[in-house]
Amino acid sequence: MTNQTTQTAPHVTDEAGVEQIRDAVRALCSRFPGEYWRGHDRDRTYPAEFVSAMTEGGYLGVLIPEAYGGSGLGLSVAAAILEEVHASGCNASALHAQMYTMGTVLRHGSDAQKRQWLPKIATGEVRLQAFGVTEPTAGTDTTSIATTATRKGDAYMINGQKVWTSRAQYSDLMVLLARTTPKEALVRKSEGLSVFLLDMRQAVGAGLTIKPIRTMINHATTEIFFDNLEIPASCLIGEEGKGFRYILDGMNAERILIAAECVGDNRWFVDKAAAYAKARVVFGRPIGQNQGVAFPIARAHAQGRAAKLMTYEAARLYDAGRPCAEEANTAKLLASEASWAAADTCLQTHGGFGFAEEYDVERKFRETRLYQVAPISTNLILSYLSEHVLGLPRSY
Ligand SMILES: Cc1cc2nc3c(=O)[nH]c(=O)nc-3n(C[C@H](O)[C@H](O)[C@H](O)COP(=O)(O)OP(=O)(O)OC[C@H]3O[C@@H](n4cnc5c(N)ncnc54)[C@H](O)[C@@H]3O)c2cc1C
Repeated sequence: MTNQTTQTAPHVTDEAGVEQIRDAVRALCSRFPGEYWRGHDRDRTYPAEFVSAMTEGGYLGVLIPEAYGGSGLGLSVAAAILEEVHASGCNASALHAQMYTMGTVLRHGSDAQKRQWLPKIATGEVRLQAFGVTEPTAGTDTTSIATTATRKGDAYMINGQKVWTSRAQYSDLMVLLARTTPKEALVRKSEGLSVFLLDMRQAVGAGLTIKPIRTMINHATTEIFFDNLEIPASCLIGEEGKGFRYILDGMNAERILIAAECVGDNRWFVDKAAAYAKARVVFGRPIGQNQGVAFPIARAHAQGRAAKLMTYEAARLYDAGRPCAEEANTAKLLASEASWAAADTCLQTHGGFGFAEEYDVERKFRETRLYQVAPISTNLILSYLSEHVLGLPRSY
């Protein structure tokens, strides 16, 4: 990736400072209107200009400590940034992995790994945007993944396959979860997996193959194949065999950040629906005068407000280093439902025009549907709450 002149986002801990960051993100996003996103959506191309602008603005380095060239801010600020991106009609999926994989690197990476990569990630010289966990046969059952990393002296040999590895074509680094001990040899199935931070620039064509998957949204997602890919043993993050725990740690951050994106989507849909309901006149009066039109918009707004409270409560706990799995899961559940309710309402409010590309409603509608499925599906969140919060019997 190109070396860029990168600013550091202003150092803030107070509400006024976060508001300034929100304003600045909105100003940046206004340079990327619906037309920009429509073009990339139509051609399924990567919004590189937007990613560069966000990097240059210092927003992708907010979680990187100041000692490594970032702003050293918390997840609450990262969430506010992604919320504003989505509330502005933009989409953060091209760049958000750099934020949600950061916890794994910061908490479990060695000093040498941090010194090697974090300053370059902060300037945008290298991108960390690929996160390889999901596999075609294991699905949500992550402890059943089959991709192996076998130690050979100072190296690991990687063999297997991942699916839905988003942004792999546009990332320099990948956080990879692979099996270092066969499942049959384990007492606890959550052990035997390890996390690696690998340099894909040297891997492509030398044992790593990337194949794009065309989907209903512009998400730059791929399947990737490992065929005797040799990586230095120094790519291992933390201890061998503890990778599942490291990834679970990071998943709370991921859920909170995705919830913030959903809160942003909810705001965009609600604003768009309310504006249209005021302006569109049918039967001689604005359609929003009909309660059948107004009430679903009001309900979606209320759902969004509640989801936002839970999202920032989860982020606050995460930043304080306190347990937040219940809140992070609840935030993701409520926010993805609030964004979907708002999307459906917005489309319905627009009638036939909701289906026209130029209104951006159908694009955002497709985009926000993802969050019921990825990064974790609604059922699995409900399973978590049932078992771990309510003490109900384990269902799988
Ligand atoms: C566009 C896109 C981008 C993605 N990006 C990435 C990425 O960058 N990196 C990555 O690693 N992964 C990524 N994913 C994968 C994503 O995290 C998974 O698709 C998601 O976790 C669901 O897994 P699955 O598709 O294998 O569904 P499955 O596990 O096959 O589940 C299918 C359905 O069955 C339900 N189900 C399964 N088991 C149970 C159960 N025990 N109880 C109740 N219901 C159950 C699920 O809720 C789901 O609705 C992406 C996916 C998509 C679509």
